[in-house]
Amino acid sequence: MDLLPLSSVAIVASLLVLSAATALVVALRQRNRIARQADALLLDIETLNDRLWALADSEERYRSLIEAQGDLIVRRDDGRIVYANAAYAGLLGLAEADVVGSRLEPQRLEARAAQALEGGARVFDERLATPQGERWISWVETVVPVALGKTVLQRVGRDISARIASEQALVEARARAESASEAKSRFLATVSHEFRTPLNGILGMADLLGDTALDPEQATYVGALRTSGEALLSLVDDILDVAKVEAGKLALALAPFDPAQLVETICELMAPRAQEKGLEIAAAIAPDLPARLVGDRDRLRQILLNLVGNAVKFTAQGGVGISLYHTDGRIEIAVADTGPGIPESRHAAIFEEFEQAETGASRSHSGTGLGLAIVRRLVGLMGGTIALESRPGAGATFTVSLPLAVAEAAPALSPPDWTGRRILIAAAGAFAPQFLVKAVEAAGATAIRCDAAEPALAALRAMPALDAILIDRALGQDSAFQLAEAARRAGLSERLVLLTPGERRQAGPGFAPAFTGFLIKPVRARSLYERLSAAAQAAPRRDPGQASGTAPGAQGPRLTVLVAEDNDINALLATRTLEKLGHRAVRVRDGRAALRHVEASLSGMEEHLDLVLLDIRMPELDGLAVARAIRALEAEIRTSEPLPLLAVTANVSAADQAEARAAGMDACLAKPLERAVLAGWLERVASRHNVATGS
Ligand code: ADP
Repeated sequence: MDLLPLSSVAIVASLLVLSAATALVVALRQRNRIARQADALLLDIETLNDRLWALADSEERYRSLIEAQGDLIVRRDDGRIVYANAAYAGLLGLAEADVVGSRLEPQRLEARAAQALEGGARVFDERLATPQGERWISWVETVVPVALGKTVLQRVGRDISARIASEQALVEARARAESASEAKSRFLATVSHEFRTPLNGILGMADLLGDTALDPEQATYVGALRTSGEALLSLVDDILDVAKVEAGKLALALAPFDPAQLVETICELMAPRAQEKGLEIAAAIAPDLPARLVGDRDRLRQILLNLVGNAVKFTAQGGVGISLYHTDGRIEIAVADTGPGIPESRHAAIFEEFEQAETGASRSHSGTGLGLAIVRRLVGLMGGTIALESRPGAGATFTVSLPLAVAEAAPALSPPDWTGRRILIAAAGAFAPQFLVKAVEAAGATAIRCDAAEPALAALRAMPALDAILIDRALGQDSAFQLAEAARRAGLSERLVLLTPGERRQAGPGFAPAFTGFLIKPVRARSLYERLSAAAQAAPRRDPGQASGTAPGAQGPRLTVLVAEDNDINALLATRTLEKLGHRAVRVRDGRAALRHVEASLSGMEEHLDLVLLDIRMPELDGLAVARAIRALEAEIRTSEPLPLLAVTANVSAADQAEARAAGMDACLAKPLERAVLAGWLERVASRHNVATGS
């Protein structure tokens, strides 16, 4: 029995232990679940935290991105700012926090018309007054949705002050360029007029001088004066053409012209410049070159002046040679020089506008870089080509080839027959001596060329059958004299020295007897032929264009012509020309005096006038006003025979002519006054008289 109570205690005890353990297990389990839940909760909190960080980070990133853009951003709800970035707030001189909630706006000074974009956006520009000064802002305005179906008006602005400033600068620069271009055209027109007036005097005086008793030498000089003056006159026109080429407004004028004369004239025109630099310059004309070709002489002159001008400009030593020949229906003109040459890599570029072969610090020549561009265009316009052959250090040769029709096939030069003659040429240089040899050989003679005094002296000793010697003064004065002396002793009947005009002046009127004559450089083949031929002994050739040969009062009635001209030289030219043509000139200095004189003449107080020359530009009353007043007067007194009125002007554009006619002038004569044209008018007036008086 004692055992039973013991086992039940044990059981109870065991039960107690068991339930305690169970409770413990349950409790333990509960705790684990809570811990797991807590873990899960912690995880969630962490994730949320991460998200919050990411959001804050992203907001900051966008914010700094927006700020970095520098764009101005503002959102308004019914005018009240709900958001503004720092840039926008800066526009008002405030911090972001101070503008939110306000209705502040920057002060607007100017606005440009708005433009609607797709999607309802609007773009407009405003000039605003800001604490940083005036700024141009370009806005994009859109309506953007925010929470709960609400919308706000968003403006994003960009500072375009720099762009507007550069646009304005461009507009101003363009306006300046346009007015400069206009000023240039006006300047060109004025300058060309101002050039013409004194040139008129020079050419006219040369004309008058050419009519006086001159010895052959003086006549040559007067001829050169005229030729150069004429060339200068067309240069003035060329300047205007440059402007026209630039504007693409150039039409070719086709007419027959003498190509040989053109090239010789250009060579002579450029000679002073070349000779001043100690360069030789010479032109060679192929003997079979046609006398007249059809083309635009003035444009061709412009081309050649550019090429020869460049050759002279860029060459420091040696010289420039121009050769002219005709092959297969094309005229070819080569302008060669012994200058610095042009590297192959620049051959194409120098024909472009404003391109120059030299660049940067090495530039040592003035120029615009337009010359060759104009040349290329003109040559192209004429259907021709231009080629360049040049290497650095080996000079340059520009060859222009043009398809020009032949107007007169007879050769330009008709060399004399010098068959059997032997001519010694003592001259150094790359071009001139060779050209002289060609000219001599074209006449059938034999040329012996020596490029220094020594070999020439040796030739004189060794060759007894020489007829003539040409000695270039450039070999040195002593050498030239020594050679001429030796030639005289050797019995050469003709001993010509080749001189520059400057050397000729220094030599004075007399000439060393060792020489039988001289030729002025550049030597024209024609002059050489004349000088060395028997024909040269004959009377000097008169330029048919210069001489009218009419003795004063020889034929026709003597007319009285009123010359209204303020420029004394032009007046002298006009009155002397009229007198030479056998008429009487009365000169007045201004428009008012002209009108007074005509009035007096019409009322019989002054002698009858047959013709009036009215300079368009005159002080007091200009020529047009005088013409109008005279016509009005004639209408008043009902004259049966209106007085012939001729306008004289340097500008003879179609518009000027029309204006002169409208003012009552009979015609418009160009300055320089051409004698033949004036003579034509005088004859016309005289023949009217003859009819009227029945004589
Ligand atoms: P510019 O003479 O006004 O500079 P051009 O168009 O006539 O302009 O010539 C362009 C360039 O070509 C010149 O600047 C010069 O460098 C080069 N050039 C032209 N002709 C010659 C020449 N005969 N010899 C050497 N260089 C030349």
